[in-house]
Parts: sequence; structure tokens; C-alpha cells
Amino acid sequence: MRKNEVDLLVIGGGSGGVRAARVAAGHGARVILAEEHRLGGTCVIRGCVPKKLMVLASRFSREFEDAAGFGWRLGPASFEWERLKVAVDREVDRLEGIYAGMLDRAGVEVIRDRAVFDDPHTVRLVGSGRTICAEHVLIATGAVPSQTRDVPGWRWISDSNQVFEWKTQPRRVVVQGAGYIALEFASLLRLLGSEVTVVMRAGQVLRGFDDEVRSHLQAALIESGIRVVAQAQLTRVDRCMSSDALSVHLSDGQRLDADAVLGATGRLPNTANLGVDKAGVRLDSRGAVVVTDLCCTSSPGIYAVGDVANVIALTPVAIREGHALADRLFGRDASARRPLLTPTAVFTTPEVGVTGLSEEAAVSEFPSEVDVYVSRFRPMKARFSMRTSQTLMKLVVHRPTDRVLGAHMVGPEAAELIQLMSVAVQGGITKAEMDPTLAVHPTAAEELIMMREPARRYAAG
Ligand code: FAD
Ligand code: NDP
Repeated sequence: MRKNEVDLLVIGGGSGGVRAARVAAGHGARVILAEEHRLGGTCVIRGCVPKKLMVLASRFSREFEDAAGFGWRLGPASFEWERLKVAVDREVDRLEGIYAGMLDRAGVEVIRDRAVFDDPHTVRLVGSGRTICAEHVLIATGAVPSQTRDVPGWRWISDSNQVFEWKTQPRRVVVQGAGYIALEFASLLRLLGSEVTVVMRAGQVLRGFDDEVRSHLQAALIESGIRVVAQAQLTRVDRCMSSDALSVHLSDGQRLDADAVLGATGRLPNTANLGVDKAGVRLDSRGAVVVTDLCCTSSPGIYAVGDVANVIALTPVAIREGHALADRLFGRDASARRPLLTPTAVFTTPEVGVTGLSEEAAVSEFPSEVDVYVSRFRPMKARFSMRTSQTLMKLVVHRPTDRVLGAHMVGPEAAELIQLMSVAVQGGITKAEMDPTLAVHPTAAEELIMMREPARRYAAG
């Protein structure tokens, strides 16, 4: 049997893989990381970072609108997609360089190649043919956009990877889906000036979120000029050969003209052709690596973190899992586990920020023991504009213990505020502990601590 060349071989240089490699090397392990595309993975190259930069770009249009109400006279504003794309690409290149530098300094050997399993502890690099034996192997290969190939003309539908490659801004966009990606792009494209139609099979956006948050956001997106077609599916996409224009047919009989269609109907774990069968790694029906709470797979010595395990597909989760695994394998902390709470944000405009339980989840877990506090108000900055949409804040409280189970917000800076609220909720704060907190005035955040009377009380009978 060949001797192990390395202690840890990481397949995938995204958020989870890079963190695990860096921390393991810091503990003195010999580490190789194989990345077939670009270091940084989905988050840095074609996800969170370029998306957030585009969101920030789009929000200037609101700033200009609000500024006029405060006495500013501005010249006609215009936006150039091409210039934004150059700036975003440059920033992504810079961050990729930072990732490469960090790994290099940590002593991780980075191999730019595709890695596949030959057996549980041998991985083959497809380009060079080199094989590497490792004591531990980490699968951190992420996820890929799911393609709805059952729609005739599906090849005219762009996925979220392709949006970042669009050379020009489409004037008319149809967005399929109503989850994170669909709504974030719908919102930013609308604020950048595109005409946007969201087509969703459900009756309401953001399945799985608090119902009041969902309806509040949907109304705000409609107010921003997005057209929402509910309970409909794409049935066909045709392309006009002479003009490149697209014609999108819907199940309710409508036909929409578009210059681009974005399909955002979820992502699938990236395990195809990875040779996991040769490694004895069990997959679930969606192709996700089945893992324990400690990120162990069904094969001893093989682990999986991040999107490929399909537990919660968020960057901080992948990072936390990668870090904890490296600590467990090579450091002193043998017990590091997944976090208890997973705060999250949807970077639409207005933004959504959430931590803890929704009202519906809390009531289902603690029937007749829940109080719900709600505040709605118009943001001060929009006071002089024509926009009427309100900020929504809500707290979900377990009455018998007074513990805050969840905090939800739709409005400016929701992601930032919920990050801080999450510290308190994770720490087990009670409503009575929040109440004496002195307000910082005038702020939006003060509303979070000023809610005194429940808007709804779930009680027996
Ligand atoms: P990835 O980052 O996908 O990394 C996997 C890496 O493995 C890739 O670089 C891939 O090239 C490489 N790879 C795959 N197979 C092989 C192989 N066989 N050999 C070698 N290399 C291989 N999350 C948030 O928390 N906040 C956000 O705002 C947010 N925005 C997002 C926006 C978009 C458009 C998308 C698509 C996702 C967004 N996410 C966001 C989710 C987040 O990007 C992912 O949860 C996170 O990047 C997952 O990290 P990972 O390490 O599991 O996988
Ligand atoms: P989501 O799961 O968020 O949303 C998928 C959407 O596609 C839903 O509206 C779903 O509808 C719809 N859908 C699924 N299958 C079909 C189908 N066959 N036909 C029509 N509609 C369909 O996935 P995304 O692709 O938006 O994002 C993937 C993941 O990436 C997210 O879950 C999140 O974890 C992560 N992400 C995080 C971000 C953030 O933190 N801000 C930003 C972007 C991505 P229905 O509601 O009816 O099920």
C-alpha cells in the first residue's frame, strides 16, 4: 500500500475548502488543495461578492431619488453596465489573489486541476494524471445551478453563473423562480433600469421564510416596479433569429417579450463524475453527500463541508464547517460543532434579515405559547420621496420563558441589524432583557427595542 503523501487533501477551493485547508496547515498538517476553476469558489467568483457589488451599484438610483426630496438638484443620471462589470471583475481578481496568497503563506500546496476519487484514500488529478494518497480527504466541491431542461428552448435561459458574463444590460428580463437568487437579481436589475417580470410557481415569494416577511417583501418589490406573475411556469422559450429577442411562454397562456431570461430554480450539490462510488461515499436522492453533524461521510477518513452536503447553502456555514473540521482533525478542539442559529439575509431592495424562528415555525413548535411583536414605519430617508413602502420589524417570543425565538426585518440595512440581533438571540436574550435597553435616537434600530405590546398572542382555546 502506498504511503500517505499528505495528511489532508481538499477537493475544492471555495469558502469551505479554503478555510479547512488554511486552518489544518496552521495546525501543522501537510495539506494539498485541488481547485479546477478559480480560488474563492462560488462566493467570491460568481456569488455573494460580485452580486453584492451589483446590489450596491443598483441602490444609487434610490439615493438619487431620495436626494431630490432633500433639496439636491442632480443632473440626469445614467448607468453603464459595461463599466460596472469591469470594476466588479477587477475586484474579484483582487480577492482571488488574496485567497492564493493566504494559502501560500499557510503552506498549503494548491494544484489547479480537477480531482476525482480512484479509491477512498487516493485522488487522481484529471489534467496531469498524478495520483495523491491522503490520510483524510475533504469534499468541498460546492453546488451548481440546476437547469430546468424540460422547458423547450431552455438553452436561452441564463443561470446565475452566466448573468455575471452578460456583456450588456438586458432591457427586458424574465426571472424564473422566487428564491434568494431570483429576487436578488430581479431587484438589482430593476433598480438599474431593466423591466423585470418574476414568474413563480408558488403564490408568494421566498418559501420557508416568515409569512409576514414574504408578503411584505412581495408588496415592496411590486412597488419598486417588478411585475410578479404567481402560480405560473415557463412552458417554452423561443428566440427570434433576426433580433435575438426572446419570447417566453407561460402555463397561464401569457407570452412575455424579453431580452434575457434568468433561471434561478435552486442549486444542486456538485458530485457528478467525482468518483464518490469508488470511495464508498453515500449520496442522497439529490446527489448531496450524506454527512453527520460532524461532517463525516459514510466512508471513514472522508468528510464533506458546505453546499455539497446540502445542509444550509450559505457561505458562513461552509466556512464554519471547514474550520471546525480542521480543528477537530488536527487541532485541540475535539468538539466544535455547527452553530445553533443561522442568520440570513436576502439582498433585495428592501433587504430581508432573519435570525431564529419564523412566527409559523414558533407556533408549530410551541402552540399557544407565542407572542409576536410587530412594528411598521416609513424609513426617514424616504420621507420626502414618493415611495410609500414601510420597514417591517418583528420579534417572535416564547411567552413562558420570555425568550426571543426569532427576529425578522424587511427594510434598509436589515442584514446589518439582524447580524447584531443574532448575537442577542443566540445568547438566549429575553424580551424583558431587551426592554430596558436605552434607544439610540433617531434610528431605525431603536424600533427593535421599543415594541412593548404584542400584535398577536397565541393562547390556548
Ligand atoms: P463553493 O464555493 O462552490 O466551492 C466549490 C469549489 O470546488 C469551486 O471553486 C469548484 O470549482 C471546485 N470544484 C468542484 N469540483 C471540483 C473537483 N472535482 N476538483 C477540483 N475542484 C472542484 N451565501 C451567503 O451566505 N450570502 C450571500 O450573499 C450569497 N449570495 C450568493 C449569490 C449567488 C448568485 C450564489 C450562487 C450563491 C450565493 N451564496 C450566498 C451561497 C454561497 O455562495 C455558497 O453557500 C458558498 O459559496 C458555498 O461554499 P462551498 O465551499 O461549499 O462551495
Ligand atoms: P432557492 O431555493 O432559494 O429558490 C429556488 C426557487 O426556484 C424557489 O422559488 C422555487 O419555488 C423555484 N423552483 C424550484 N424548482 C422549480 C421548478 N422546477 N420550476 C419552477 N420553479 C422552481 O434557490 P436559489 O437558486 O435562489 O439559491 C440557491 C441557494 O443559494 C439558496 O437556497 C441559498 O442557500 C443560497 N443563496 C444565498 C444567498 C444569500 O445568502 N443572500 C443569495 C443567493 C443564494 P418554490 O418556492 O415553489 O419551491
